[in-house]
Amino acid sequence: MSGEFELIKDYFAKQQLNRNDVAFGLGDDCAILTPPQGMQIAISTDSCVAGTHFLIDADPRLIAHKTLASNLSDLAAMGATPAWLSLALTLPKAAEFENQTGLSIQDWLGQFCQGMFELANAYHLQLIGGDTTSGPLNIGFTIHGFIPQGQALYRHGAKAGDLICVSGDLGAAGAGLEVILNQAKQVKDHTLTELEARLAKRHFDASPRVALGEALRGLATSCIDISDGLVADLAHILKASKLGAQINLQDLPIAPDVLGFYQVSQSDKSLNNLDANHQKALQMALTSGEEYEICFTISAQDFDKIQTIATKTNTPIACIGQCTQNAAPNIELFLNQQKLDWQLAGFDHFRT
Ligand code: ADP
Ligand code: MG
Repeated sequence: MSGEFELIKDYFAKQQLNRNDVAFGLGDDCAILTPPQGMQIAISTDSCVAGTHFLIDADPRLIAHKTLASNLSDLAAMGATPAWLSLALTLPKAAEFENQTGLSIQDWLGQFCQGMFELANAYHLQLIGGDTTSGPLNIGFTIHGFIPQGQALYRHGAKAGDLICVSGDLGAAGAGLEVILNQAKQVKDHTLTELEARLAKRHFDASPRVALGEALRGLATSCIDISDGLVADLAHILKASKLGAQINLQDLPIAPDVLGFYQVSQSDKSLNNLDANHQKALQMALTSGEEYEICFTISAQDFDKIQTIATKTNTPIACIGQCTQNAAPNIELFLNQQKLDWQLAGFDHFRT
């Protein structure tokens, strides 16, 4: 079994990307970096814990992708451009590791690094260091990005009357998790339908909206990424901005596969007859976490700029409601002008 230093040399030092603002990367006590002039640095840390964020025998490439995507998504939500990454990795000892994951540490790390470097390279993100220790499987990424001075997108800053927008479509990560957990409960291997397989993939496969975040600099009045569910994350914007919101559910971009998963028939899509299945699909789109889409607000007079940004960044954008003067963070849900009284909560690690 190779030691810590061999693992670092054989796996983490293998990224084929060298940014010229990295004066010294892996291999000393610290990395030495040269921040560009005029830029502020955005920093965010995310942990992914086996048994909490992923099943311990999940595909290591997908685990790497999902963890790093959530980290990149935080940069996207601030309007930052990714630059540097560090990795705090805790791995069980070899025998226990193989027993739990079904893979040797070497095979697992090879696949993990493949998933990590594929995504990192796509965003010109360089691994500049980290730490490797022994203990229960845990992945901690810290990401650094650049934002031109004064242009960060915060949660505060939304104004009454601003439009509320979301990128992409919603619900697939949460429905995908249902598929994965259902499959794990089956005694025999249950073959997934094509639709279930697509949803399971969506659970791991987020594309962080970095280009959209960059395009929203100077335009969005507030911004957040959807990691705990739309209603929970929008509530953070509303609390920070001291506002309420009205959401028009007929404008909510529910992922088509989520409608399929809950067997919402095509003809029901007008939302005129809200049956139990349709309600489930809507609630999934409103509460599904780990979507890594962006929720932002813009002034109503900038409405016509949204289409240009959607086209330029190749990102679907839907306007789903507006901010109100109501006491924060009161979110009122409307369906074709009728008010609904659903009580929805997002994901919270410490709620019992
Ligand atoms: P120290 O003991 O001084 O903290 P380490 O022996 O932990 O240094 O790490 C040696 C080098 O390898 C450092 O440059 C560190 O940043 C890098 N490194 C260690 N673990 C990782 C990892 N999981 N990913 C990337 N770089 C790592
Ligand atoms: Mg160390």
